[in-house]
This record gives sequence, C-alpha cells and structure tokens, in this order.
Amino acid sequence: MGLAKLNQLYREVILDHAQHPRNRGELADATGVMELHNPTCGDVISVSVQIDDDKIADLKFAGSGCTISQASASLMTTVLMNQSVERARELIMAFSALITGEEVSEKDDDELGDAALVGSVAEFPARIKCAALAWHALDELLDEKGATAHD
Ligand code: ZN
Repeated sequence: MGLAKLNQLYREVILDHAQHPRNRGELADATGVMELHNPTCGDVISVSVQIDDDKIADLKFAGSGCTISQASASLMTTVLMNQSVERARELIMAFSALITGEEVSEKDDDELGDAALVGSVAEFPARIKCAALAWHALDELLDEKGATAHD
C-alpha cells in the first residue's frame, strides 16, 4: 500500500473511532478500574474491565483527551473484547512494539487489525504516549488480576 493511501486510511480510522467511540462508559460490575494520565498531552483514560473465567467478558473506557488517545482506547476495546487474559496481554505487547516502530508477527498484526494502523504514530514520537495510554491501563489491570488470581 502506498504511503499516501496508508495515511488516508489511518486518518479515517482515527476519526471514525474518535467521533463514534466504541464501548465508551464505565462498567457497573467491573472487576478492575484503572485511570492513567498523560501529562505531556493532558489525556486522561479510565479503563474498566470485567474478567470472567480468565477472559475479558466486558471492557469500557472513559476520559478525555486528544483524538489519538480516544481513538486508540476505542480501538483497544474492540480488539481485546472477549480475548483470554493471556492473549490480550500478548496483543498489548504487540501493540506497544508497533507504536515504537518494531516488527510484529503477521498473526498479531492481523488480529490487531485497524489498531495496527495506529502503529503509524511511530512516525510521531510525541504521540506514542497518547496511543499507548489505554493499552497500558488495561495491561496494569491484567497484571493485578494475575497477582490476585488465586484469592
Ligand atoms: Zn494525547
């Protein structure tokens, strides 16, 4: 795909998710809630997750900030909903690799889908934290879950 075409697709995906965010709100019966801030841009993202049987049964985000932070959070919910905790963590790692300009496997790239497009922000280092915010929040929640799995 040509770079101009890729940039256009990227803008369309980002704008679509920023204007029509998926899974926005807060879960009443969340098993975990994590709020993270990105002070360099002013983004605030709060992720709530419901984990059931080591699976992400429900996932929502709330908060405010720039277009990329909001669109990336919305994309995250669509990609990671109904994934196993283990697979979700792998995909979060793959996304983190993508936005810092590293290669990921074709399988991970496929499964990230539109979220992989956000990997283009690697061209704009200042926006990496914006794109990563929601994914890092969920990663911390899954971390906590792992630490308390045998309660
Ligand atoms: Zn931002």
